Amino acid sequence: MHARKKTEQGMLIVLSGPSGAGKGRVTRLLLETMPELVLSVSVTTRCPRAGEREGADYFFATPEAFDALIETDGFLEHKCVFGQNRYGTPRAFVEEQRALGKDVLLEIDVKGALDVKNRVPDAVMIFLMPPSFAVLESRLRQRGTESDADIAARLDTAREELKSAHLYDYFIINDRLEQAAEETRLAIMAARLQASRRLDVIRAIMEGEKKTC
Ligand code: 5GP
Repeated sequence: MHARKKTEQGMLIVLSGPSGAGKGRVTRLLLETMPELVLSVSVTTRCPRAGEREGADYFFATPEAFDALIETDGFLEHKCVFGQNRYGTPRAFVEEQRALGKDVLLEIDVKGALDVKNRVPDAVMIFLMPPSFAVLESRLRQRGTESDADIAARLDTAREELKSAHLYDYFIINDRLEQAAEETRLAIMAARLQASRRLDVIRAIMEGEKKTC
């Protein structure tokens, strides 16, 4: 009974990696080739950037509203990222979509990802990383949104985050964006084909044989 439930649920896919790894851009390309994936929109206390839309990029919340969600166990995980703003994954949405059999994608930081792994051990964990710290640094500089001190702090954090990469299922280098998105798609396809996730298919074949005997 337990196994049947597991195979009927959609997968929880966690795309994570250091700030500047290109998680957002890989996610956007991935959703073009896998439109069946449901992207979880996080709640954040940070202010919207130009062009960001409520409910599409984030749900923008006051610190009080964020606290209220914590108190009601509204988050699957939540973290303060770079000691500045808080971000959280809405629990009910993720659970509802998975219960409908949809594969849900989270694009979150490494600490939050490891919390998800503890809470949902069969989550598919994908770590995205630039080919080197030098490339990571130049990408952070190109964004032009962080000060030198912020960039140094993000590089230090990235070094710490990389130490947890072995806990993930897949490690993808984002050198060329298209290739990284394609490899992410392949990782998700591979996860979908794992025998432990296909017990319903296996059972259907077994039952089909019984009926024809
Ligand atoms: P940004 O403010 O640039 O949109 O995001 C900053 C960082 O927060 C990124 O690394 C992003 O992946 C991460 N992030 C976004 N949503 C969540 C979330 O719900 N939980 C956690 N733990 N991190 C998140």
